[in-house]
Order: sequence, then structure tokens, then C-alpha cells
Amino acid sequence: MSNNNTLIVGSIGLDTIETISDRKESILGGSATYATIAAGKSSAVHLVGIIGDDFPPSGMKIFKEATVDLSNLEQKKGKTFSWGGRYARDWDNRHTLFTELGVFKEFDPVLTQQNKEVPIIFLANIHPSLQLSVLDQCTKRKFVIIDTMNLWIDTEREKLKEVISSCDVLLINEFEAKQFTRRKNHDDQGTVLQALGPQNIIIKCGSKGAKLYAGHQLDTIGVFPIKNVIDPTGAGDAFGGGIAASLANGETMIESIINGSALASLTIEGFGIDTVYNANVDEIEKRKEHLRTTLNS
Ligand code: AMP
Repeated sequence: MSNNNTLIVGSIGLDTIETISDRKESILGGSATYATIAAGKSSAVHLVGIIGDDFPPSGMKIFKEATVDLSNLEQKKGKTFSWGGRYARDWDNRHTLFTELGVFKEFDPVLTQQNKEVPIIFLANIHPSLQLSVLDQCTKRKFVIIDTMNLWIDTEREKLKEVISSCDVLLINEFEAKQFTRRKNHDDQGTVLQALGPQNIIIKCGSKGAKLYAGHQLDTIGVFPIKNVIDPTGAGDAFGGGIAASLANGETMIESIINGSALASLTIEGFGIDTVYNANVDEIEKRKEHLRTTLNS
């Protein structure tokens, strides 16, 4: 196996997205999808996920391009996971319209030998039990990054705690950090979360950037300025995918966050996967350069 491999597990879905000015139905989405497209720009992605027999060939083509290993991409008879979300004018408030699990209900991945040995693992947002079951099968883990969502903090708190305590990097947005820790202050949230196990806590603060709590050190990073937000769906997943890819390339945690932020900014600028999928290396590098200037400023 070459060096820069990443294992990504999460949802693969067909999303219906409503913004104040547009609506798109059944477009390619899911946490693993965004993470894979982002990570695939600079790492060798092994994708773990499930799709139904309604999954479009165009989506499969994207996965073939963005990955090196689809041996754990299962296709089953039935409907692909689907999710609908509506954004308010300020983008911060997202309302879930529906979640239909479809074939996800039967998802119980058994990793292939090759996938068990991938050292950098990104457990994108899915049920914490699934995150744990994949993690338990990974025999050569070097860095485990996890993401989650408010739903699991509400409904699966204990399982989620177990996942958090097994990871090296926790990605959490500021609302979820408050919900989980019941603390208002980011520094306190960082301390409570670090006490569960992970050395690195990344609190995502939307248009204000992100904070990294690593040991006793705090670093802040800003954002790449976007003229026109089109659809923020998947920004967090692309952020995580970008971090995983950079870590797989041996980059520092800060450089990895810069890569994640560049890919997240691209995701927001188009509907669904469009802009991040089409982004080239030069555009990503340009954004990374700007982001470096925002460090701790
Ligand atoms: P984000 O905007 O980063 O929170 O991620 C959005 C993606 O998460 C969408 O493409 C959805 O398909 C997916 N998603 C939404 N709800 C869930 C869920 N309960 N489990 C897994 N994935 C989900």
C-alpha cells in the first residue's frame, strides 16, 4: 500500500436541498461523499459505504474517480439513504425536512483485509455504533478523525462518548460543542472534550473559522472569504476529508486544517458537490495561501 491512504466511512445519500432562492431534488450528497471528494484531491481514498439500486451511475463515476478502493462500497436492493434540508436566510439555521435511511438500515460493514490496514481513518458523520464497528476492525490505525452531529448528541450520547474517547481528532461545530459539554465558553468546551481522550479538538465556528485545541495550545484559523454562499451542505465533511488527506501526506495538524478549510470554502460556493468536485489544485493552493495569513490573527 502506498503512503497517503485514507479510509472514509459515512453516509452516501441523495439530498433534497432548499435555500431561500433555489431547490434541488435528489442530488448526490452524504457525509462520506463530500469527504471522499475532498480527500480524493490529494490522498488515496478507500470508501466504506452503502447505496441502493436507485443510485445514479453519475454518482458511481465520481466515486471511481475520487477513490482507489471501492471494495467496501456495498450496493443493495432498495433505496439509497436520502435526506432533505432547508436553510434560512442566515445559513446558520438548517432545518431537517426528512431523513430516510433506506438501505442504511442494513449497513453492517465488514472491512476487506486491505481496508483494515489503512492508517488514517475518517469516521464522517453516521450513527456512532457504525463508527465504532468500523474502527474496531482497523488494525493499523495511526490517526482517527471523527465528526458527528446534534442528532447523535441527543440520542446516542454514551455511544458517542465511546467513539470520542477512541479518536485522535474530534471535529465538532460550536453549537454541538455547547450541546455536548453544556459549557458556553470554547476554552471550557475544549477542556471537557480533551478530558474524554482526543489530544486534538477542532471547534468549527462557521464563517468565523475554527479553533484547534491541541494539548495546552490553542490555535485559531480564519476563513477564505466567499462572495456568495450558495449551499453550505457538506462543508464540514469536506473539511474533515481535507484534514484526513493532509495528515495522510504527513502534514502538520495546522496545515491539515488549512487544507480542510480551503475545501470547505469551495463546497459552500456551489450547490451540492459541484464546486468542490470541479476544483483544481491551483484554486485549492490559492485558498490555502490566504488561509495561512489568518492563523492566530
Ligand atoms: P453537513 O452539511 O456537513 O452537516 O453534511 C451534510 C450531509 O450529511 C448531507 O449530504 C446529508 O446527506 C448527510 N446527513 C444528514 N443527516 C444525516 C444522518 N442522520 N446520518 C448521516 N448522514 C446525514
